[in-house]
Amino acid sequence: MSVARMLTGDRPTGRLHLGHYVGSIANRVRLHQGYDSFFIVADLHMLTTRNTREDIQRVADNAREMVTDILAAGVDPARATFYLQSAIPEVGDLNTLLQNLVTVPRLERVPSLKDMARDSGKEEMPYGLLGYPVLQAADILCVKGQVVPVGKDNAAHVEVTREIARRFNGLYGTVFPVPELIQAETPSLVGTDGAAKMSKSRGNTILLSDDEAAVRRKVMGMYTDPNRVRADVPGTVEGNPVFAYHDVFNPDRAQVAELKERYRAGRVGDVEVKEKLTDALNRFLDPIRERRERIEDDRGLVDQLIFDGTERTRREVRQTMREVRRAMGLTSA
Ligand code: ATP
Ligand code: MG
Repeated sequence: MSVARMLTGDRPTGRLHLGHYVGSIANRVRLHQGYDSFFIVADLHMLTTRNTREDIQRVADNAREMVTDILAAGVDPARATFYLQSAIPEVGDLNTLLQNLVTVPRLERVPSLKDMARDSGKEEMPYGLLGYPVLQAADILCVKGQVVPVGKDNAAHVEVTREIARRFNGLYGTVFPVPELIQAETPSLVGTDGAAKMSKSRGNTILLSDDEAAVRRKVMGMYTDPNRVRADVPGTVEGNPVFAYHDVFNPDRAQVAELKERYRAGRVGDVEVKEKLTDALNRFLDPIRERRERIEDDRGLVDQLIFDGTERTRREVRQTMREVRRAMGLTSA
């Protein structure tokens, strides 16, 4: 019996941050060895919101940095297939066929698309952005992905994939597995500015590649409880991003409980809470930093991984497309 497949990935728009980590990468690290794991560098998805020449010129470097970040986070390069989406034109062919299995109103109900349009400064919804979940369905289904670990903003897209897979199988006979969404323990990580989501486009991130000093500077500048003007005023822990990060990244639960208690009672200053968070985050990032050094020393490793992974994925996708065309009764070459 063949091993089940995992498919997930990111757009090559910059370095990965703690939000990406908790939303998707933590599950990749935890699960990838048990699956045949595909990690997409989703540059066609990037084009739905960023498509200038400069954006495209940065894809190669961003792809290298992104794959380096994923490996540094703990994915074993021997156990994962990385590939560049735009190097596999058959993904576009599948996208074209799947577009007929979903309606415009269904896509208009996907909440993340409106957020993405707004965040990227678009006044009206681009056609390609409306089709973002369909292209994602093509990514997942072209390798017959069975599990898809993604963050909260992406969960609705996986639901669209499931609907499309069922519809395809119902119309033409079973070709695709209906993939399972793997929800994160922390489906959405708040930004350093207190905005609902840590996000590159909002500039409220802590990067997996930040050094100690950058982490300290960002934490010290973090939003806390706006009503608390002095350390002896009782503070609110709920919705306070500093404590949200303590909850996720500080393994010393007793320390976190004690800090919360003192914060609520007005017996601890923001600075102490932030100092302890800086330490916790830096201890969390230390092993990632060590692995990154080893990966960066291994020159050519990442380029080779993307090259080989893309070759392998293209072979798999061509096979899937033969099955799709046969099932649909389309003439094949
Ligand atoms: P950003 O969201 O920072 O602008 P992006 O939109 O380019 O970056 P995606 O490629 O859409 O990033 O996201 C990659 C994965 O990371 C998705 O599974 C997404 O749900 C997850 N993710 C991104 N930001 C967060 C966050 N703040 N909390 C949890 N998961 C997140
Ligand atoms: Mg996003």
